[in-house]
Amino acid sequence: MSFAKLGLSAELVRAVAEHGYTVPTPIQTQAIPAVLAGGDLLAGAQTGTGKTAGFVLPILQRLMTHRVPAHAGGRRPVRVLILTPTRELAAQVAESVRVYGKYAKQACAVVYGGVGIQPQIGELRRGVDILVATPGRLMDLHGQRCVDLSRVEILVLDEADRMLDMGFIRDIRRILAMLPKNRQNLLFSATFSDEIRILADTLLDHPAMIEVARRNATVDATTQKIHPVDRDRKRELLSHLIKTRNWFQVLVFTRTKHGANKLAEQLNKDGITALAIHGNKSQGARTRALSEFKTATLQVLVATDIAARGIDIDQLPHVVNYDLPNVPEDYVHRIGRTGRAGATGEAISLVCVDEHAFLRDIERLIKREIESEIIAGFEPDRRAVAQPIQQRPQRGARAGDPSGAKSRQRSAGTSQGGRGGAATHARKRGDERTAQGKRGTPGAPRATHATASRSPATQARSPATSPHAAPRTPAYAAKPGVRRFGGRYK
Ligand code: AMP
Repeated sequence: MSFAKLGLSAELVRAVAEHGYTVPTPIQTQAIPAVLAGGDLLAGAQTGTGKTAGFVLPILQRLMTHRVPAHAGGRRPVRVLILTPTRELAAQVAESVRVYGKYAKQACAVVYGGVGIQPQIGELRRGVDILVATPGRLMDLHGQRCVDLSRVEILVLDEADRMLDMGFIRDIRRILAMLPKNRQNLLFSATFSDEIRILADTLLDHPAMIEVARRNATVDATTQKIHPVDRDRKRELLSHLIKTRNWFQVLVFTRTKHGANKLAEQLNKDGITALAIHGNKSQGARTRALSEFKTATLQVLVATDIAARGIDIDQLPHVVNYDLPNVPEDYVHRIGRTGRAGATGEAISLVCVDEHAFLRDIERLIKREIESEIIAGFEPDRRAVAQPIQQRPQRGARAGDPSGAKSRQRSAGTSQGGRGGAATHARKRGDERTAQGKRGTPGAPRATHATASRSPATQARSPATSPHAAPRTPAYAAKPGVRRFGGRYK
């Protein structure tokens, strides 16, 4: 299969060829014709599958094929709106539009918070065809009457699950109200919760539906290992592993922003160059940390889950879970950062007694037991008693929102019966403002791609999805390739 055979114009084929793409990835093979056909699309795909070109290329083609008149003042209308959860992803998508659209003559702008708004206003005034935006900044710009969305023809929600996790649902609904009713909607999501299903049901009209596994299934390319250790000795063990094993380009995940800062500081004291990347860092600091990490001048990048979204670094050799995530799907996202592009990678988790229930949840989700190895000199105290771990704020919690301060807590080590265990507040930890813990709501059933389908036949074919009631196979554990289910191409 070639890009030309998918119905793309010579300009687009030339641009991707110059960028080194010869063969479309599975998501591209399916998404490009679906988007070109003009209908709505529901796609289950993660970063790393080539999903961005999967929607950017056919969008560019549609814009080039169907030209429209300019606004009265001669300004080109915004015809495509791409919403992303994070600044990094917005910048990355806009860069892809520039690369793939090198010969397509479509103006693209990217707007996100954390940087000055005036240059963005100036760019919008000059007129753009494709606008990539994070919801908050787009709302600000719309509130200041600097952006007109009344002529949007195509809406893309990229990483929609993360947008909902980050509490953007109200902003999304407000943005939807600013758009013309008659438009094409494309929804990309790595996971399918009840909220995504509800959003898909209200947003999409008889969507084509596609789902792909990661381009390089990490199950084969990634070694996963657990190192049991006492909670107070994790930092010491991490420094020991990095030094004795000569690790470079190590992506370390912590549960909280405060934890990320503290760990980066301590690693530097140990003589290991490290920077933290999270939502409280300025955009400049985040960009600098990422570029130093990419060029391997920085040995360790300490990140929270939210900040790590949108980071696209191929062949990352080491991912370390300094804290296990309380949302098992986050483990899959995290380890998907290593072993990409056919390279082998190593995903290490430092697990203390407080995190045993999290580990059980993860192993149930990925349907395998992760190999455990105690490092000599770091043997955990067998008599240690589990302490509660503070959870993330509830879904929808926003900065300054008092309801967001109401965090669920649970002792991972002591909870009975999995997700629902209650716990007392034992220690306070800062947290990513936008994250949430609702995925773990006791008894809440999880939806699949197929439940978002309106076709009963499709639903009948769908696998059970609650990782607890009936464990599902995560995307990364599936064989590489495409599973097409239900839906239709218009
Ligand atoms: P994405 O999932 O869109 O973030 O893409 C992940 C990575 O795959 C990016 O580094 C892209 O440049 C790369 N990529 C996308 N499509 C192709 C392709 N057809 N051939 C080779 N690499 C690709």
